[in-house]
Amino acid sequence: MRRFAWLAALVLASVPLATPAAAQALACRKGQSFERWLDGFKQQARAQGVSQATLDAAAPFLTFDKAIIAKDRGQGVFSQSFLEFATRMVQSRMSSGPAHLRKHAALLARVEKEFGVPGPVIVAFWALETDFGVNNGSLPVLRSLATLAYDCRRSEMFTEELLYALRIVQRGDLSPGEMRGAWAGEIGQTQFSPSGYFKYAVDFDGDGRRDLIHSAADVAASSANLLAKGGGWRRGEPWLQEVRVPARLPWEEADLAIKHPRSQWARWGVALADGRPLPADTMPASLILPMGRGGPAFLAYPNFGAFLEWNQSLVYATTAAYYATRLAGAPQVQRGPFPAATLPAPQILELQRLLARDGYEVGKLDGKLGLATRAAVKKAQLKYGLPADSYPTAELIARMRSGR
Ligand code: CA
Repeated sequence: MRRFAWLAALVLASVPLATPAAAQALACRKGQSFERWLDGFKQQARAQGVSQATLDAAAPFLTFDKAIIAKDRGQGVFSQSFLEFATRMVQSRMSSGPAHLRKHAALLARVEKEFGVPGPVIVAFWALETDFGVNNGSLPVLRSLATLAYDCRRSEMFTEELLYALRIVQRGDLSPGEMRGAWAGEIGQTQFSPSGYFKYAVDFDGDGRRDLIHSAADVAASSANLLAKGGGWRRGEPWLQEVRVPARLPWEEADLAIKHPRSQWARWGVALADGRPLPADTMPASLILPMGRGGPAFLAYPNFGAFLEWNQSLVYATTAAYYATRLAGAPQVQRGPFPAATLPAPQILELQRLLARDGYEVGKLDGKLGLATRAAVKKAQLKYGLPADSYPTAELIARMRSGR
């Protein structure tokens, strides 16, 4: 299961690419009114086991809100580098994070015992998502989801999410009035999607309800359960470790999709951040270079997959994982010997067009340096004989423009 992939965009200062007027939004429904769409949706919900009583209770919130459409259309582009984003997100939370680790020490110990996920990992998401419940969002979730389901952009997915939100109501976890959250329907102190809530939320304080809005115990245990069952968390294993890379390395090996035992990375000259040798054992790891070979470097262990499952943005996932290492006692990340300049969104967009022109698979042309774009960048770097560290540079764009 994936949480909403665009979540990271919500917390970023952004560069809008285009903001069509909300009024245009629903031309796609070809004149079908919200009310007629809603009749059809209710029929579908009943067929899937949602009771009439649940639909009646939800009715006041099953309305259309054009402000939600405008927010969805106005979403910006993720254009911050790892160091910019991590510095902003982590530095300001280096006192609140440890304070919450201490405050909830007993709870987090119980959660780790049951689910295998350590406290610093849970606290990292808890802090980054809502600052421990301060910014849960206050919009009626059912209204946001009904609006986004009626819209055609991602109708199928939001229709599913709306069905799950109704199932949460029916199960008695939250009333329709209590179910308030972020504009895209994320709920609670760690911003679960309704489907994630329904599948992974647990009642850990024993009051009979899974309450991710008010109960710290439910929030901590449910987040751990999601990471364990949805993200495949392995008890007792690390997730991310800062390393130092040598001047020369087969850079194309630095790829999330490639894992080598630590002993292999050690043979290639990768060392711990403080210069000491890596343990030369069989623990598998990927080398990730979120800002290219001159920037910060990390070994990502199998547990890093749980961070990507939470949010598939590499910058967000690496930031959350790094913050968790800080909470577990790791020192501040080094900037790397020569961190590459961050290309702004319009240049990433141009690069994506060049990559697509040459037949590389880049996914959506959106100006975002996502995993698909990084993978295409690596292939182009190999073709042009550049160090294939998957991080785009102005040089690569220039070479692709001229075709040489
Ligand atoms: Ca509870």
